[in-house]
Amino acid sequence: MLKCEDCSRNLDEKEALVHTDNEGNKHIICPECFKKATGVDYQTFAYRKENAKMTIISVLFCLAATIYAFIENGMLYGCLGLVLTVLVYLFASKAK
Ligand SMILES: [Zn+2]
Repeated sequence: MLKCEDCSRNLDEKEALVHTDNEGNKHIICPECFKKATGVDYQTFAYRKENAKMTIISVLFCLAATIYAFIENGMLYGCLGLVLTVLVYLFASKAK
């Protein structure tokens, strides 16, 4: 059984969250204390994290496609790919 380090509530293993504070120390806390510490609830936090990961993956994918297009089809397609990459990045970061 885990215990919230903040409010001393007993926690199930699956609802315990690890929060890293400003000094880089890790604390085991409950979802309520996570919300208090970060200002967002854990679902929002996890969603944003997942979203940021997806953005990076799509941008990397576009970059790879751009490099491929540049090698296969030349400068013009490379530039088009670059524009597309920027658009994907802007769209993905806006979707948050
Ligand atoms: Zn707590």
